[in-house]
Amino acid sequence: MGTGVELQSIPDDAATQAFVSTLRGGAIQQGDIHYDVARKVYNAMIDRKPRLIVSCANVADVIRCVNFARDQGLAVAVRGGGHSVPGFGTCDDGLVIDLSGMKGIRVDPQRRVARFEAGCTWGDADHATHAFGLAAPGGIISSTGISGLTLGGGFGYLSRQYGLSCDNVVSMDVVTADGAYLSASGSENPDLFWALRGGGGNFGVVTSFEFRLHPVSTVYAGPVFYPLERSAEALRLYRDFMKTAPRALSAFFAFLIVPPGPPFPEHLHMKTLCGVMCVYCGDLSKGEDAVRPLLEFGPPAFAHVGPVPYPAVQSMFDPLLPAGLHHYWKADFVNDLTDEIIAEHVQRGPEIPTVNSAMHIYPFGGAVQDVARNDTAFTYRDAKYVHIIAAVSPDPAPMPQYRDWARNYWSALHPHSSGGSYVNFLMEEGEDRINASYQENYQRLAQIKRKYDPGNLFHINQNIKPAAW
Ligand SMILES: Cc1cc2nc3c(=O)[nH]c(=O)nc-3n(C[C@H](O)[C@H](O)[C@H](O)COP(=O)(O)OP(=O)(O)OC[C@H]3O[C@@H](n4cnc5c(N)ncnc54)[C@H](O)[C@@H]3O)c2cc1C
Repeated sequence: MGTGVELQSIPDDAATQAFVSTLRGGAIQQGDIHYDVARKVYNAMIDRKPRLIVSCANVADVIRCVNFARDQGLAVAVRGGGHSVPGFGTCDDGLVIDLSGMKGIRVDPQRRVARFEAGCTWGDADHATHAFGLAAPGGIISSTGISGLTLGGGFGYLSRQYGLSCDNVVSMDVVTADGAYLSASGSENPDLFWALRGGGGNFGVVTSFEFRLHPVSTVYAGPVFYPLERSAEALRLYRDFMKTAPRALSAFFAFLIVPPGPPFPEHLHMKTLCGVMCVYCGDLSKGEDAVRPLLEFGPPAFAHVGPVPYPAVQSMFDPLLPAGLHHYWKADFVNDLTDEIIAEHVQRGPEIPTVNSAMHIYPFGGAVQDVARNDTAFTYRDAKYVHIIAAVSPDPAPMPQYRDWARNYWSALHPHSSGGSYVNFLMEEGEDRINASYQENYQRLAQIKRKYDPGNLFHINQNIKPAAW
């Protein structure tokens, strides 16, 4: 019997009993006291019932899980931070490999690298590296897992300056479908390394990531909101602003409902506005000048910009998005914010249904484009923006109506899009959408899939089918 979260009951069959007895971490099955908590993922719309959830303590547990699932013909779901909105961190009647207990971190400030175990969230990573005035580019909500985010590409406030999260990975340790433990880097298994940088969880279970770090400590950042009547002008300002913005500046555009609490003034609570969240990660003394055009337009209904420790910016929106809300997302890349696209946003953005929901336009460009579209699995290097329409609610009852808002908004924008989406923002939208999101890299991914996972053991993801030839 393992340590950690102990098995509450003995599995019926001898094979599962023998497997569980070899684990250092815990295993939970249906009927156990912790089962209903352990099977939950971040998106409350997902309600799946795995046969077994293994909370892995180390690489040995991961290898045992992969071998057991393959030999028993069990479906495998891999869970890092559990944030996958389509719920790929769980499954019905299969084995969940839960990595969230594997949180080891070693920062090497001299070499400016850090190794993170696969269960770390961005909050864990930022906390550890901030002590040395360093950071790796990650996502904008601190509870998101480094694993799923990085494997799909990963972008955030530092990406225009330092690239996608996957661009900053130096090496990864991976357990492949045959139970082998490999290192993937520029010099070891480079085909696997290529595929893991954008190709998602298709190629094995990554047990740790070595990241390159950058000098980021205090940034100049915060939100600037404008009244809805100015939203067309604000979007045009944003478009022009981003065209000439320095790489050190990242800013996303949003339609939002103002949260009912500080730092927002009471007269704005629960009002629908539009706005820009900006982060300047360069020389602090230049931050104010960098964001000035956003402050001079309007006047803003609210602005709260200044020097902020990087981990505080990274967790600024966490309270709006706790685990357990109901999520439905639609997204696409776009090459420009044309007047036609702006007109759709101005019409549909103000109908945002809840304070937790969002329409965000995230900028790409800068260092993201320094990497060629075929240098990693992540293809859309030339996209200027990705927009996401996220219907989010604590209450499931109105979700069909909120989902329609997201779907209709997305459908109106889709003809103006680049055709594909960011894989980490896709729901279960079918093979054509996955194909469109990888474009010409899909075929190479399918070949690498055939080499490392010919039986498609890892299929609970934005699945790339093994090539037939
Ligand atoms: C609130 C919120 C904010 C977000 N913000 C951003 C953002 O700023 N930038 C951005 O780029 N994305 C963002 N995302 C999207 C995010 O990148 C994806 O949801 C991603 O899948 C989350 O990774 P995870 O480890 O938390 O998820 P999980 O659900 O644990 O994993 C998702 C899938 O990734 C694969 N996977 C996870 N871990 C491993 C592993 N160790 N080895 C192999 N495969 C693995 C599996 O297929 C798994 O099912 C956000 C998502 C949410 C919900």
